[in-house]
Amino acid sequence: MIAFISDIHSNTEALEAVLAEIEHLGVERVLCLGDVIGYGPEPRATLQRVIEVAEFSLRGNHEDGCMNYASDFNPKARAAIDWTRDQLNLRDQPREQNFAFWNYLASMPDEHREGVMLLVHGSPRDPIREYIVPKDAQDRAKLDGCFAKFGEARLCFVGHSHVPGVYPESGGYLPIRELPDGYLLADDRAIVNIGSVGQPRDGDPRACFATFDGERVRFHRVEYDHAATAAKIRAIESLPDYLADRLGQGR
Ligand code: ZN
Repeated sequence: MIAFISDIHSNTEALEAVLAEIEHLGVERVLCLGDVIGYGPEPRATLQRVIEVAEFSLRGNHEDGCMNYASDFNPKARAAIDWTRDQLNLRDQPREQNFAFWNYLASMPDEHREGVMLLVHGSPRDPIREYIVPKDAQDRAKLDGCFAKFGEARLCFVGHSHVPGVYPESGGYLPIRELPDGYLLADDRAIVNIGSVGQPRDGDPRACFATFDGERVRFHRVEYDHAATAAKIRAIESLPDYLADRLGQGR
């Protein structure tokens, strides 16, 4: 079984809760779809943990923004990115660790293809930046453009929007409350948004991740101490308070 994690956003409490559940489930492989960092208070600890447990992480828009100039982020998001970048360059931390972080960011692939699976952070046609959100279920041209990039794949796992659910090729959007038994890989190809570990935005503040056993995708929600993460964010002047507030609301 494979576990997919994404959009951890420097949230150690959420990541540790999810990793405990992954261990409990007896998962063999952990694959990360990007945005390990950004927004949250502990980029170094989070990145270190992902390096240890994940087979790889794809490049998210926050890693991309951290490595390059984050021109496409709004001013508040950019302030958080600039702070994150500084954290990965701290002079009072071992230089080798700083180098290891930057090397890891630089090595992140844009996409991963393996059997029936295609993995990207954003969308198949724009792997780092394009969002797929529930209203796109009505946008046939956009979905057709995405499915045209599938190649051999049957399922495309994405993150980025922080809203979990399934977009079958035949149309529509299935939120995870309509998928209590998960989503069975069938004739219909599908885009699967695995949700966000560290900043869920579907109204449910619990950390979200997904597993895949080769046939069925299951979604998992895990309680974590979001008040502790929020307190850490509020204690850092460069991180806007709304980044703390939203954790408790799941938006
Ligand atoms: Zn994200």
